[in-house]
Formats: sequence, structure tokens, C-alpha cells
Amino acid sequence: MGSDTLAIRFGIRVGDGLQTRSWAHHADSSLHSDPSFYCVLCGTKSEMAFAWTTLFNGQEALGDLCAACVGAGPAAAAEHEGRKAEEWREQAKQWREQVKEKWPKKDKELWREMADWSDKKAQRHAEVAQGLHTLDPARWSTLAELFAAQEQGIKAFWAEAMEELEG
Ligand SMILES: [Zn+2]
Repeated sequence: MGSDTLAIRFGIRVGDGLQTRSWAHHADSSLHSDPSFYCVLCGTKSEMAFAWTTLFNGQEALGDLCAACVGAGPAAAAEHEGRKAEEWREQAKQWREQVKEKWPKKDKELWREMADWSDKKAQRHAEVAQGLHTLDPARWSTLAELFAAQEQGIKAFWAEAMEELEG
């Protein structure tokens, strides 16, 4: 399912800014699909068999959150994103230093491209951090919402399994 379709399903509009939504995904994905993913905030490999909490920026789904990051809330997430922006800025700086070295022209070109790319990554994380800093807590899913979605997913799973048994 495309991320814009997912956003539309939740009634999320283009200019809506940052928010998370918890949702039971069993109805939309095959049971056999891999339930593991890397948390968009902390990068930890996580598993969610029946429900996900997805971070949106407008209609764009940025990725899914692990339960720890959902529970930690938007202020912790903002801190995390701010740190990532800092890391990418630092990386860009290091690559820009390389551009000044006596490398062949095409190597310099490559360092410059990598530095620009890192700057873009830094910019993106800084924007997310900024959005999270000012986020209304009502726009951030609680663990209770995630667990409710999970319960809903488990119920949908069993309902389908029973139907298969009876049919
Ligand atoms: Zn996480």
C-alpha cells in the first residue's frame, strides 16, 4: 500500500505537518509478510506483528516507530532528530574538508556531492526536529493507542482464521 493511500485512509492532508497514527495492519498486509522493521527514530530493529505506529509529515509516511519511541513521546523524538541533524552536519563538514585537499577533480566532485547530500539529510532531520519540538501532544500516538490497534489486529486475525476454518 502506498504511503499516500495510507495517509488518505487516515484523512491526513498535504499540509498537515507532523503526526503519528497507530493502526492495525493485518487487514492490509499478508500474514506472511515480514513483521520486522527499523524504527525511523532510533534505528532499532523492531517487530510489530499486528499494528504499527507510523510517523507522517503531511501525507508522506516517514516510517514506523518502535514501542519505546512511541512511549518516549515527541520531546524525546525531537532530541533524537536534532542529534541526527548534528551528525549529518558534522559529516558534511568532514566531506567539505576533503574537497579542499589535493584530490583529482573528479574525486573532489564526488566529495562535494556527498557533502551536499549530507547537508540535505541534516536539513531534513532538523526540520523534523523543529516540527516535533512544537508538536501538540494530541498528534502523537500513545502506547495505549498502539496496544488498542494491536488488539484490533489480533481480533481481525482470529476472525479471519475462524472464517477459514468454518469455510
Ligand atoms: Zn525507536
